[in-house]
Amino acid sequence: MNAPYDPLIAATPGTGLDHVASYWAATAGEIPPDDGPAPAQLETEVAIIGGGYTGLSCAYHLARLYGIKPVVLEANRPGWGCSGRNGGFARMALGRWTAAQMMEQWGRDLAKRVFGETMASLNTVRTLIKDGGIACDASEAGHLKIAHRPSRAAALKQEAQVLQREFQYPAEFIDAAELRDNHVGGTQSHGALRIPDALAVHPLKLSLGVLRMARSAGATVHAASPVTGWRKNGAVHVLTTPHGTLRAKAVVIATNGYTPQQLHPAVRATLLPVLSQIIVTRPLARAEIRATNFVTRHVLTDTRRLLYYWRRLPDDRIMFGGRGLITDSPGRNSRQRDYLLSELRSKYPGLENVTVDYDWHGWVCLTRDFLPHIHHAVDDTSLHYALGYQGSGVALSLHAGKLLARRLTGEQIANVIPPACTPLTRFPLHHLIRIPQRIMYRWYKFLDNRDWPQ
Ligand SMILES: Cc1cc2nc3c(=O)[nH]c(=O)nc-3n(C[C@H](O)[C@H](O)[C@H](O)COP(=O)(O)OP(=O)(O)OC[C@H]3O[C@@H](n4cnc5c(N)ncnc54)[C@H](O)[C@@H]3O)c2cc1C
Repeated sequence: MNAPYDPLIAATPGTGLDHVASYWAATAGEIPPDDGPAPAQLETEVAIIGGGYTGLSCAYHLARLYGIKPVVLEANRPGWGCSGRNGGFARMALGRWTAAQMMEQWGRDLAKRVFGETMASLNTVRTLIKDGGIACDASEAGHLKIAHRPSRAAALKQEAQVLQREFQYPAEFIDAAELRDNHVGGTQSHGALRIPDALAVHPLKLSLGVLRMARSAGATVHAASPVTGWRKNGAVHVLTTPHGTLRAKAVVIATNGYTPQQLHPAVRATLLPVLSQIIVTRPLARAEIRATNFVTRHVLTDTRRLLYYWRRLPDDRIMFGGRGLITDSPGRNSRQRDYLLSELRSKYPGLENVTVDYDWHGWVCLTRDFLPHIHHAVDDTSLHYALGYQGSGVALSLHAGKLLARRLTGEQIANVIPPACTPLTRFPLHHLIRIPQRIMYRWYKFLDNRDWPQ
C-alpha cells in the first residue's frame, strides 16, 4: 500500500496511481485514453502541471480558442486529485465569502462584479458540459445553505436580502417549517438560504469529459508524469519528468491542494493543504426517506465554520462530507469515517441503521487571505498559476483555467476578479502551520456548537 501523500513533505503525489476508490470511481464507466507518460524530449509553447479541472480547462481553452497545443503533465491520472473525488457541487463561490462580507470588504461595485464572475463560472461549467456533450449526470439542483442552529437563521435571512437588494439576485430565505415540509427534515434544519443556481454533477465524469475535449481540441495530456525538477535555461523552462524533459516558453501551475512544496519557489509556503473527507451510504430505504423527509435534490451545506456538505444521490444514497484529519493516516481516517457517520445520524435520527459503502478523502487548498489566486510569479511573467479554491472550486477552477488561457494569450485579466487576480502571499512560519490549524479546528468546533458569536 502506498504511504499517504502529504504535500507539505513529499516531492510529488506519486506516479501513475489509480483514481482513489470512491463512489465516483466505481460509477465512472469507461475511462477515456490519455497520452501516457511524457517521452524523453518534448517542446511546447505552454506546459501545464496538474491534470484536474484547472489544468484541463486551461488546456482545452488554449487549444480550442487560441490554436495553441499545450502539454499537460499529470503525476497520476487526469482527474486523480480533487477534481475526480469532490462532492460534485458546482456552486457560485469565491472561497467562502458571503455577499455581505464581499460588500463590507470591497464595496458595492466591486462586490457586484465579483459576484457576477462567480455566476460566469457556473456558466463556464454549463457551456463545457453542453459543448462537450459531457454525460456527468448534471442537474440544475440549486443550493440550500441550512442553519444548523436556530440562531444561525438570521444571518441567512440577511444574506438573502443582500443578494436580492444589492445584486438583484433571486435568492430566498426558507423558514424552518417550509424547509422540513418541502426539502428535508432532521434535528438541524432551522431555515435555509436558497440559491437557485447550482449544479450537481458526477465530478470524475466531468473531469474525464474535459480531458476528452482538451485532447480532441489538440492538447496533449501525459499521465504518470510528475514534475520532479524545474530549471530555467534563458527564457525557457525545463521541466524534468521520470523519462525526460519538457521545454516550454510558459508554464501553468494547476496543482492546487496537491502542490508539493518543492515544486517552485513562487508557490512555496503560500498554500495550506487541508483534508476533506466524504462518506457515501448504502441506498436509503423508502422508510428512511420518509422518516427524514429527505426529498430535496438540492446540494446542501450548513452554517458551521467547519461545514458539512451533503446531498441525496440519484440512486438514493446520501453523500456526506466534512473536514478530514489534519494529516493523512489510514487507521485514523476510518475513525473519521465513523465520526462523519455519527454526525450524519445526529442530523437525521431516522438514519440510525444506515451504513457506509464508500469513504475517501482529498486535499483542498487554503491561502493566507482565504481567496483563490489567478496570477503569475512576481519575478517571472511566464509562470502562471490558479490555486487556492478553499474547497469550493468545481466551478471556479474550470473558469480559472479559461481565464488563464486568456492571460497566456496576452489578454489583461486583472480586472475580471480583482481580489483574486493578485499574487499569492506566504504564510509566516509555514513549516509550523499544522499547529495553528489544530488550534483553529478546536476553536471553530467550539463556536459551531454555541449560539455566540455568529
Ligand atoms: C473531498 C473533497 C470534496 C470537495 N467537494 C467540492 C464540492 O462539492 N464543490 C466544490 O466546488 N469544490 C469541492 N472540492 C474542491 C474542488 O474539488 C477543487 O477546488 C478542484 O477540483 C480543484 O481542481 P484543480 O484542477 O485545481 O486541482 P486538482 O483536481 O486537485 O488537480 C491537481 C493535480 O495536480 C497533480 N500534481 C500535483 N503535483 C504534481 C507534479 N509535481 N507534477 C504533475 N502533477 C502534479 C495532482 O496529481 C492532481 O491530479 C472538494 C475537494 C475535496 C478534496
